[in-house]
Amino acid sequence: MITQRIALERDSKYAPCGYIVCLVDDDGHWDMYSDDTSKTILVDSDWGFPGLASTFGWSPCCGAGQTDGTVDCLSCGAKTGDLISSAADFLDDHLGTIVEDPGYFSS
Ligand SMILES: [Zn+2]
Repeated sequence: MITQRIALERDSKYAPCGYIVCLVDDDGHWDMYSDDTSKTILVDSDWGFPGLASTFGWSPCCGAGQTDGTVDCLSCGAKTGDLISSAADFLDDHLGTIVEDPGYFSS
């Protein structure tokens, strides 16, 4: 079984409000500007940030498993808005990171 890898990118001109998930080829390269929609995915919704950040190793607030980052945490009281901005901060800190694709590009 071939494991696909993805890289995280961001470009403030191309996609000011989102992140670009890029399919990494066998040589470890990727092209965030590819027109091939099978190789890049734009995540430009705030609600997509926690899930995307989780893919790259982020976990919401206290880690009690009460929230995936898109609802308030019943355990520690963290608010959804704070969780989403925390996820966005995490993503900004991990641009260029490569991880195994959990299913963004699975066909
Ligand atoms: Zn919590």
